[in-house]
Amino acid sequence: MDYKRIITHVFNEITSGENLGQVSAYIPELAEKSPDKFGVYLTSLNHLEIGMGDHQEKFSIQSIAKVFSLTMAYKMLGEKIWERLGVEPSGTAFNSLVQLETDKGIPRNPFINAGALVICDILISQLKNPKAEFLAFVREITGNKKLSYSEKIAASEKATGYRNVALCNFIKSFGNIENAPEVVTDFYFHLCSIEMTCEELSKAFLYLANGGKTFDGNNPVITTSQAKRINAIMQTCGFYDESGEFTFKVGLPGKSGIGGGIIAIHPGKYSIGVWSPCLNAKGNSYRGMKFLEQFTTETRLSIF
Ligand code: GLU
Repeated sequence: MDYKRIITHVFNEITSGENLGQVSAYIPELAEKSPDKFGVYLTSLNHLEIGMGDHQEKFSIQSIAKVFSLTMAYKMLGEKIWERLGVEPSGTAFNSLVQLETDKGIPRNPFINAGALVICDILISQLKNPKAEFLAFVREITGNKKLSYSEKIAASEKATGYRNVALCNFIKSFGNIENAPEVVTDFYFHLCSIEMTCEELSKAFLYLANGGKTFDGNNPVITTSQAKRINAIMQTCGFYDESGEFTFKVGLPGKSGIGGGIIAIHPGKYSIGVWSPCLNAKGNSYRGMKFLEQFTTETRLSIF
């Protein structure tokens, strides 16, 4: 497979096409990014690395970090975590409160904000120093010692994250949050604040392409079954209320964030990080989705 030729061709086509949508204005740090930024990086399990465009510029990975927190909680507690949240697509916006009322505080899945807050609560109950231990875990599984939180972005979210505060308090009213809501949201805002480049993102997620083992050294991060299940949840719930569309058009498990990043994984083959800050109406990167759609079409490789 000539990945390099295909990536170059698709990248150039997408760059010369439209760039629709809006850069997220949720917090000022996201709004500052130029809409024309566009980077791609692929790392394959047979040691191929291909980068294009702004692949070495850091951006806020936002919701993509929810995959790391799920990985850590799943590793520590196994199937027990599913007593506190589900694995069904929500069919609602990522920050919606609506279903929690009828679902009695049990979030539909770990990638909507409600579910990610419950995962944060689980980790806080398990860890002595949650923020430091979580960061150490992410550094270890990604093999990247340079990763860290952006205190500036975390503080910005803290100052404006009224909905997340509401979600956390609402879930606590049903008894599905054990710790103080301000501690849970502080941890949540920090994990969303991690910054990465497309290159770092692509390398960080190789454990999900590699059956749950680290790429360098084949050390188990999680079991093969857990890796399969996390990929499955990414497939069905990784793109807000557009997960069906992403599956339909791209055909790979993945996760997006409102910073404009997308990670997509071909289990057994590669992991690809894409970043372009203009978001479509559903909150996913416009060019990122377009790129991946054309990429899996031209490589004729998807999991389906
Ligand atoms: N920190 C953002 C929020 O909680 C994450 C949104 C996202 O990337 O989906 O609203």
